[in-house]
Amino acid sequence: MRNEGTGTWPQRRARLSSGKTAITFRGRATTYRELDDRVTRLAHALRSLGVGRGDRVALLSTNHPAYLETLFASGLIGAIFVPLNARLTAPEVDYVMRDSGAAVLVHSRELGEIARSAAGDAARVVLDGPGPDAPGYEELITAADPSRIDEPVSHDDPCFIMYTSGTTGRPKGVVLTHGNIVFSVMNAVIDLDLDSHETALVCAPLFHTAALDVVALPTLLKGGNVVIEEGFEPGRILRVLERERITYTFGVPTMFDALSTHPDWETTDLSAIRRVIVAAAPVPPRTLRTYTERGIKICQGYGLTETGPGALILTPDEVERKLGTAGVPHFFTDVRIVDADGREVAPGERGEIQICGPNVMLGYWNRPDATADTFTDGRWLRSGDIGVADADGFVAVVDRLKDLIISGGENIYPAEVEAAILEMPGVAGCAVFGVPHEKWGEVGCAAVALEDGHELDHARLVEFLAPRLAKYKIPRSLLVIDEIPRNSTGKIRKDLLRRRFA
Ligand code: ATP
Repeated sequence: MRNEGTGTWPQRRARLSSGKTAITFRGRATTYRELDDRVTRLAHALRSLGVGRGDRVALLSTNHPAYLETLFASGLIGAIFVPLNARLTAPEVDYVMRDSGAAVLVHSRELGEIARSAAGDAARVVLDGPGPDAPGYEELITAADPSRIDEPVSHDDPCFIMYTSGTTGRPKGVVLTHGNIVFSVMNAVIDLDLDSHETALVCAPLFHTAALDVVALPTLLKGGNVVIEEGFEPGRILRVLERERITYTFGVPTMFDALSTHPDWETTDLSAIRRVIVAAAPVPPRTLRTYTERGIKICQGYGLTETGPGALILTPDEVERKLGTAGVPHFFTDVRIVDADGREVAPGERGEIQICGPNVMLGYWNRPDATADTFTDGRWLRSGDIGVADADGFVAVVDRLKDLIISGGENIYPAEVEAAILEMPGVAGCAVFGVPHEKWGEVGCAAVALEDGHELDHARLVEFLAPRLAKYKIPRSLLVIDEIPRNSTGKIRKDLLRRRFA
């Protein structure tokens, strides 16, 4: 068997478009020929550090081309890439390093202290130069053997392990195979109509699947240019969108809101954008309106790390007609909506979203029980999310099952209440969550962050919501806070809010 894995993509692309720019980072362009050479050398360097087939190679850094190079280099030698969330604390990194049993930890100089304490027996490699006690990434690449590597890797071999953010408990390692990645990437290329002229911006973290599998890898597969930004600063991102004539990007709803409320929003030239993807958390209607009114096709997607991540997509052609939905299943993927007994529900009825297809993970790393719990009928992945399809099959994501509030037997979907509160002038952010109640079992509580110079009390909130929502949906109490706490994928930390309320 030849290497069917993603690790060979740079050499395959170099044959087709060697002189084209593959990656732009800190103002420097890397061509496909250079990327191919760097990846081959890095693969040899990893081998010289003792990495073999099936071994894990971890990376801890803010956004950096090393994410792509290490993913490809690991894939060339049949090793498994483990991107780590750069915002984790030392004990959290320690947990993931132990759980994955990584043999190598590539890390930025900035995160050196955490890396050193979590590395254990793993060899360390330092981005941005040799460290006092570990070799430098560039130095390793330059010194390594440039000869071709011929390691058989199949679509069924693991490509990377990505740890879920853990909003529902201890992080679990999601194992995605090379085949999973191929199909996830093909889904994005097909459904978003990506071509070789894309200049795609990666400004969401590369340690989450969306930035990798929806933006960077599909663009590289097609021979486009991936512009990598280390972080997300709205004013800077607007300048990059204009200067680089970005055609495509992905963000979570809060990122798009931060751009559209920035003072430079109106004067920034965004005419090169062909479409943007928004996903990972409920998308407020006002966000969608702001972008469509500006003439930007804002395609809502839906997915999970476990599905690589894309499961549903609102294609650019349907944005106007089906705004507010997350669209239809991706080309190679199937989605069904089922009731508590596992029966498919009719259009218009709510149920759990379940996903099946070649993009769906192999399972959780070393967690056969969790894997078995997540699949039903053998191959359908239970998402834990509630959705509703319309008569044309377009699915709106309603909420997470675990966030559902059941109050006196009535279901309250926090995302619906949040969307209503966000329409209130002066509201900057909001989160609705359930709190225990003697009579009703549970009632809703709203945490609201206000724009400067605005005030809000419970009576005014009730007055605003009364004509918009059924009485049982109106939050029983109000918590005015400075900022809505979110994790790095834009999900509201309702666990923190519940604790704060208690
Ligand atoms: P954990 O499983 O540990 O809690 P996580 O859920 O944060 O981690 P991800 O894989 O990053 O892990 O997120 C997947 C979740 O994101 C989905 O289950 C869903 O709740 C939410 N999500 C994704 N897209 C959308 C969307 N368009 N609208 C609403 N929610 C979305």
